[in-house]
Amino acid sequence: MNIYGQIYHQIKKAKKIVIARHVGPDPDALGSSIGLKEIILNTFKDKEVYVVGMPTSKFKFLGSLDKFNEDMYDGLLIVTDTPDFKRVDGVDIRKFKNSIKIDHHPFIEKTCALEWIDDKASSASQMVVELALKTKLKLNKEAAEKLYAGIVADTNRFMFSYTSPKTFDIVSALLRETNLDITKVYNDLYMRPYKEIKFQGYLSQNFHITENNVGYIVITPDILNEYEVDAAMAGNMINNFNHINEMLVWVTFTYDSDLKSYRTSIRSRGPIINEVATKFNGGGHIYASGARVKNEEEIQNLIRELDKVVIEYKNAETN
Ligand code: AMP
Repeated sequence: MNIYGQIYHQIKKAKKIVIARHVGPDPDALGSSIGLKEIILNTFKDKEVYVVGMPTSKFKFLGSLDKFNEDMYDGLLIVTDTPDFKRVDGVDIRKFKNSIKIDHHPFIEKTCALEWIDDKASSASQMVVELALKTKLKLNKEAAEKLYAGIVADTNRFMFSYTSPKTFDIVSALLRETNLDITKVYNDLYMRPYKEIKFQGYLSQNFHITENNVGYIVITPDILNEYEVDAAMAGNMINNFNHINEMLVWVTFTYDSDLKSYRTSIRSRGPIINEVATKFNGGGHIYASGARVKNEEEIQNLIRELDKVVIEYKNAETN
């Protein structure tokens, strides 16, 4: 049986299903998990299906979450968009007897009994739609909205390199088979208050750029207060700084007063950055990674490491 059949078979067999995703969820983590719940319930009306993890107010339009309780450990666990044990939000994978992973991150470690990893897929949401298209799982409009949001956000509106012919085939099928209102999805995803634009203006004016084309900015609690924005919102700004001639790699370090460390978001238009992120308590994709650094010294070390990968990249390009 192929992987789609195997996953479908496990879902069909299970009475209770718990779906989890990574901490600090983005629209793909939420879209893939909540979208999968909708699809399962749309196909099997009598199953118990829960999506767990911390809610985020910014993305509440993607749907509500369920409160986890210990009784859920006898269900089938499905983890989406999460490559390792340490980044799963709200559950201990090892306590489940049966588990499935659906993920598009580069492989880190085996966490689930059955794993479907496609690190060339644009998003975990794309994989969930693919699963539905290849099995008897039934898509509907509610699921489609969540999954489309996940695909759009993780590809940055079909711009990133893992946007492939398969992405467009899957999106095309999603639009054809459901009554999806994409304007609504774009409004939900991209409407923002004016203070966010003012804050973006501050970032635009204050990036430092190294001689090797690494752009970076340190966002202090004072700046967050002045612009009335939070660390999560500031971290999400990173994707707005692509396509700037002078920055081949760019980073935001946002001080997170709760965790007393800097939430670090890194993006690249060529050099591979996830190996550097891994050295600084982080990880992620080859061109989009995150990390956690404690102080100014670690910030400078991380910039130096990024400078090095940019130099290697440029040398390889010219040879
Ligand atoms: P972000 O910059 O927070 O949007 O994260 C970009 C990518 O890096 C996502 O795929 C995250 O899952 C991953 N990532 C972010 N922070 C971390 C971290 N501390 N550890 C491992 N992966 C991370």
